Amino acid sequence: MLFDTHLHTTFSTDSRMTLAEAADAAEKKGIGIIVTEHMDIGYPEKNAFVFDVQEYFSQYEAKRSENMLLGIEIGMMLAQHQPAQTIIDEYPFDFVIGSIHFVDEQDIYQPSFYQEREKSETYGRYFESMAECIGRYRGIHTLGHIDYICRYAPYENKEIEYAAMREWIDPVLKKAAECELAMEINTRRLNSETVHSLLPVYRRFAELGGKMATIGSDSHRPEDVGRGLGDALALADAVGLQAVYFKNGKPIKMK
Ligand SMILES: [Zn+2]
Ligand SMILES: [Zn+2]
Repeated sequence: MLFDTHLHTTFSTDSRMTLAEAADAAEKKGIGIIVTEHMDIGYPEKNAFVFDVQEYFSQYEAKRSENMLLGIEIGMMLAQHQPAQTIIDEYPFDFVIGSIHFVDEQDIYQPSFYQEREKSETYGRYFESMAECIGRYRGIHTLGHIDYICRYAPYENKEIEYAAMREWIDPVLKKAAECELAMEINTRRLNSETVHSLLPVYRRFAELGGKMATIGSDSHRPEDVGRGLGDALALADAVGLQAVYFKNGKPIKMK
């Protein structure tokens, strides 16, 4: 079965999609899903982008099945590593995504992060802090949306430029391969234009020893569940990564 391995329901601060809506959308598409709620410990606003994991399992455990698995998206921040690690270690997640949403405790979503800074500086620090975080966290299965910064950067060309940025990107990819992480192909921005800048990054990951890709829509709405799954599968194939999903922390081939 094909799996959308990255989506957010009501335990995520920014999602109002219910589990029933997500499951329904997946069933209509004939795919499985892994719920991956946001856990950004250290988020500046109190009680935002964190959730009660005990409550998550008590509400969703009964609905867990072969095609509805329970995961988490950890917003990796060096200063907050320990409390996040405790959560990863203590709960029986099928799947853990490690993502960078903050760099040097600044929110990449906020325009202030980019203010009076060149692309080389912000993207450089973004990849450096990603490399620092990978390897520090145990129990992460995939590196989430490596192109996250491109969603919010204000530059005319927001895309990752592998050739110009390899000195920062290669250490990330090497570290991820060393730690046997999968690379997420996040379909939120995947289209016929962005694929040209993303493909060299995923290909390089395979060259540096990366083996697996997970595919996630990062949906916050039912209509986005499973979006771009076919295109992402083709991309994984093209760069030589095995598309997988995780159950009980173990990778399972998608085809
Ligand atoms: Zn994310
Ligand atoms: Zn997400």
